[in-house]
Amino acid sequence: MSYVDEVFQMVVEKNPAQPEFHQAVKEVLESLRVVIEENEEAYRKDALLERLVTPERQLLFRVPWVDDKGQVQVNNAFRVQFNSAIGPYKGGLRLHPSVNLGIIKFLGFEQIFKNSLTGLPIGGGKGGSDFDPKGKSDREVMAFCQSFMTELSKYIGADTDVPAGDIGTGAREIGYMYGQYKRIKGVYEGVLTGKGLSYGGSLARTEATGYGLLYLTEEMLKCNGHDISGKTVVISGSGNVAIYACQKAQQLGAKVVTVSDSTGWIYDPEGIDVALLKEVKEVKRARLTEYAAARKSAQYHEGRGVWSVKCDVALPCATQNELLIDDAKALVANGCLAVAEGANMPTTIEATEYLQANGVLFAPGKAANAGGVATSALEMSQNSERLSWSFEEVDSKLKNIMVNIFHNLDEAARKYKMEGNYVAGANIAGFLKVADAMTAQGIV
Ligand code: NDP
Repeated sequence: MSYVDEVFQMVVEKNPAQPEFHQAVKEVLESLRVVIEENEEAYRKDALLERLVTPERQLLFRVPWVDDKGQVQVNNAFRVQFNSAIGPYKGGLRLHPSVNLGIIKFLGFEQIFKNSLTGLPIGGGKGGSDFDPKGKSDREVMAFCQSFMTELSKYIGADTDVPAGDIGTGAREIGYMYGQYKRIKGVYEGVLTGKGLSYGGSLARTEATGYGLLYLTEEMLKCNGHDISGKTVVISGSGNVAIYACQKAQQLGAKVVTVSDSTGWIYDPEGIDVALLKEVKEVKRARLTEYAAARKSAQYHEGRGVWSVKCDVALPCATQNELLIDDAKALVANGCLAVAEGANMPTTIEATEYLQANGVLFAPGKAANAGGVATSALEMSQNSERLSWSFEEVDSKLKNIMVNIFHNLDEAARKYKMEGNYVAGANIAGFLKVADAMTAQGIV
């Protein structure tokens, strides 16, 4: 059996009931096959792949907190410190009822390659809890965040592990967590990113993932003879990534006609009204039915359906495994040119392969949504030098990083004779730097 197949089998056997983690490892290892085979003897002797797929450290802990009725609640929480070969662990904290160890491991594993692709010195990690901030009062969210950070603070630090936001963890949650960290540790350091501007946050961090997604998509289209301007775009999700993807797409002259949330979706042929969307989602924290109620041109539909709308560009920005094989078929049938993943692993392997086989340009999340973590790393730099850069400075660095990422993965794909396969290109380019650092640092 080949080394890649052996390691994948080991991952399945040693990590039962973690299908998302298996899926992420399979996708990466499959596209690394040619690179591994070139150097199989050395990698095998050093157990490089076994070390790569095994987290350096996994923390599992309980989070007790008291709700508004005086009842004690208990949640499960996780921090997976996956790989620190090229820098301190870096990756977000997800707060969602679906969170379990397998999901955090899939996200942490992806993060290793994404962070490597940014060209910045950050290792891979991820964390979170099955706590659901939806429907909780501010006081309940604070009680949870403080209890969560009381335990997590023992394992993180500005030079060791720097968490950030993700699904369910926005500015409010980061603020409560930062306050508790500072109170426990007594130090004012850049231990979290996504902080508010008044206490060490970076301008453009809020916009970074969505903006970065569009910078990379624009470059991918341009290098394949297309212009983003004038294109019809469908977006899923209506959270942080989706909102700013929508805003930047419009700034670049595209028309965005859909957004969604976990209960339904909006079709707005006149183009999504970003100011209204922000009001509904960021201020009122309400459902998309409120958007439809406030805008004549918008139609609200229950359930899923974004991918059935005719478009040139599709940007999945909600969650994992939200673009399935039938969705891919609908996109191809409707003449879609490009799919770029704002979310982490939103497209199943089967759907990705179908899109690629049918000539759709496909940018994987670990490249396309790397703008968030790249700007987090810029926030770390600003905290270290105790300075704040202007919005324009951060945004222009972000744009450069995204354009460079696209060219790195394009070149890696060409070098290994897989021209246009940006999934392989991203995995290969991300892997080579980490593998080199791991090899140089010996068996640790
Ligand atoms: P938010 O919590 O701000 O928004 C998530 C959006 O996706 C919401 O519209 C939510 O709907 C929807 N959603 C969440 N879970 C599901 C589900 N199971 N089914 C359908 N819809 C769902 O998160 P972000 O925008 O920050 O993150 C979105 C994706 O982007 C995630 O995959 C995240 O890991 C990834 N990402 C985020 C980065 C960031 O900087 N924020 C950086 C890189 C990647 P509802 O409101 O109804 O829950």
